[in-house]
Amino acid sequence: MPTLTPHEDVSSLKGVGPKKRAALSSAGIETVADLLTYFPRTWEDRRNRVKVSGLEEQVPAGFTARVLSVKRPAHSYRSGRRTPLVITAGDETGAVEIVFFQSHYMERIFLPGGDFYFFGTPARNYGKLTLIHPEFERVGADSEFGGYPIVPVYPLKAGISQLDMRRWHRDALGAAAAAPDILPKDIVSRLSLCGRDFALTHIHFPADRHALSAARYRLIFEELFLLATALGLLRERNAHAAPGIAFSDSIRPDDFSRLLPFGMTGAQARTVSEIYADMESERQMNRLVQGDVGSGKTAVAMAAAYKAARDGYQSVLMAPTEILATQHYAEFLRLFGAEQTPAAPAARSLRIRLLTASVRKSERDGILAELAAGAVDILIGTHALLQPDVVFGKLGLVITDEQHRFGVNQRIGLSEKGETQPDILVMTATPIPRTLAFILYGDLDVSLIDELPPGRKPVATKAVGSGKRGEVYKFAATQVAKGHQVYVVCPLIEENTESEAMAGVRSAGSVHAELSRKFPGLNIALLHGTMKQAEKDGIMEAFTAGEIPILVSTVVIEVGVNVPNATIMIVENSERFGLAQLHQLRGRVGRGASASYCVLITDSTSEEALTRAKIMTETNDGFVIAEKDLEMRGPGEFFGVRQHGLPELKISDMVRNASMLETVKQESARLLTEDPRLEGPENAALKRGIEDIVSNLSNPGL
Ligand code: ADP
Ligand code: MG
Repeated sequence: MPTLTPHEDVSSLKGVGPKKRAALSSAGIETVADLLTYFPRTWEDRRNRVKVSGLEEQVPAGFTARVLSVKRPAHSYRSGRRTPLVITAGDETGAVEIVFFQSHYMERIFLPGGDFYFFGTPARNYGKLTLIHPEFERVGADSEFGGYPIVPVYPLKAGISQLDMRRWHRDALGAAAAAPDILPKDIVSRLSLCGRDFALTHIHFPADRHALSAARYRLIFEELFLLATALGLLRERNAHAAPGIAFSDSIRPDDFSRLLPFGMTGAQARTVSEIYADMESERQMNRLVQGDVGSGKTAVAMAAAYKAARDGYQSVLMAPTEILATQHYAEFLRLFGAEQTPAAPAARSLRIRLLTASVRKSERDGILAELAAGAVDILIGTHALLQPDVVFGKLGLVITDEQHRFGVNQRIGLSEKGETQPDILVMTATPIPRTLAFILYGDLDVSLIDELPPGRKPVATKAVGSGKRGEVYKFAATQVAKGHQVYVVCPLIEENTESEAMAGVRSAGSVHAELSRKFPGLNIALLHGTMKQAEKDGIMEAFTAGEIPILVSTVVIEVGVNVPNATIMIVENSERFGLAQLHQLRGRVGRGASASYCVLITDSTSEEALTRAKIMTETNDGFVIAEKDLEMRGPGEFFGVRQHGLPELKISDMVRNASMLETVKQESARLLTEDPRLEGPENAALKRGIEDIVSNLSNPGL
């Protein structure tokens, strides 16, 4: 067979006809190069071959055995499912049970008397050693790879067998040598990485464990390095290609902080300085402010908007919910809308408007007219701001709060409302694990508010069974007696009697009714997403003013709401909330100087729910919680589907390979310092290699 080249279509491979070609395509494999980077999901170490009697619980091993009997699957009338296929196979030393759950096509393969090679990890099932879904091959077929000490096991698609994959990979290996090594030579030698052809050969057919780990390390490093370098290149490009507004330096951080009723924390002051420097520079600001719940991000947003306004530019602040937009509006008014007295000079008085979906048409028309005429300094609102008829006279700054709640496209939509590129400030309370921030927000500069305002005490957190509910509410009543306020959050609005899955799940409606009966003297309010906006606003205003001691709600209360006098957060059926959500909910309390509490009520015994409750009771640190959340859910779900335009990672895992990220980051930064746009001829191959990543990242994704 002539040597294949990497760019060749996989149909050049022996045994790839139209059907198999289509199946390969469904796995994203079109070319020989694609095949070479279709990596094994695991490897069988065939050096550990045993006799059946030598099989041990939990020890992966391979063995050859003859099928002795086959128990055909039957239809189970109780569950409506088929029972598994159970095979007994053995050699002269003994027999073992082998089970396949999805058995439809296996029935035809395993016929009594057939000899197979099996590989798997035995487990004990009702006292018997059993292999569930082992790898297997007919003995004759296996001999083809008999000489390999370690054999790859690929993830398969319908229509392709393990043997097909192995053969194709084996036949394609010749092309590995033809694939150019695009990593800079000095990096390869500094980190003692193996060559690319070595890596591609030994990732599929390792000579030994040592070669395999060298191959894996090299390929993981390469994948992360290409991504990091693509992001770095993009950031560099943005820095030059996006001229922004150069605000004057007439407003300094101190000019703003003087207006605040409190002194800024060190982290806030640092963040404001970074923002002011960005705003004064000629390039467009693209900054992410990341700060845990309660760290004081609003003040930072105010600082930016103030500077823009004093320079004659308009700002827009978009929040994910009406409750939050309304609260921001009230806070901005309090700071900037104050009457002009000697203590509050004219300098602080700005024109602020609120625009949400529930603003009446006549009022909206008025706001839009003022906005276009430049008679509004700061516009605060929700998604309603994205309407095409919302037109600014002179937009200079776009702020999105609680960024994780918005699609990335919405952030971009807002910034296109300016004639020149407005500066962009993004705020989020979802702490991205430090190791990942640079990849995820690689196009943004990041400020971290890693300090809480003084006097905050950690929120004492407890998880209790529903048997303790009475006690919990009694304790809440004692807090109310001290003048504090209470949140009760439920997963549902109304009880759902139809759905079995929802049986026993508490609703805001019924909890509200129950508490109203229990505490007849107290004003207990109910808040949920389907209520009329005016009604919601009225309740939030009254709660903020301290007129409502107990607020029963759904998760509408989750993000951003700030009522420092509230000291208890009670979460009903807490097993129904994710870690990040629980942390956000807990962040609604502990915002003042008084001791605060969070009680998670749950009867769930699921491992996941127990782990989440344990993490919540052990730490208040949003970063720790984010790391755990990431561990539990995996990066895909954590970051949301494809939201960031990140390429699919074929071999690396940003969580499991987190320790390598530091090296990757350093090497990538070093390279880009030497050759910021990869213009050197020695980096040309690398540049070509990352072009795809760069263009995917720079289209709406990021
Ligand atoms: P978040 O970062 O969650 O959006 P907020 O901006 O709502 O937090 O601030 C939380 C609370 O802390 C507010 O009541 C705010 O007035 C107060 N706060 C913010 N910064 C400080 C500070 N430096 N000193 C004292 N209180 C502060
Ligand atoms: Mg906030």
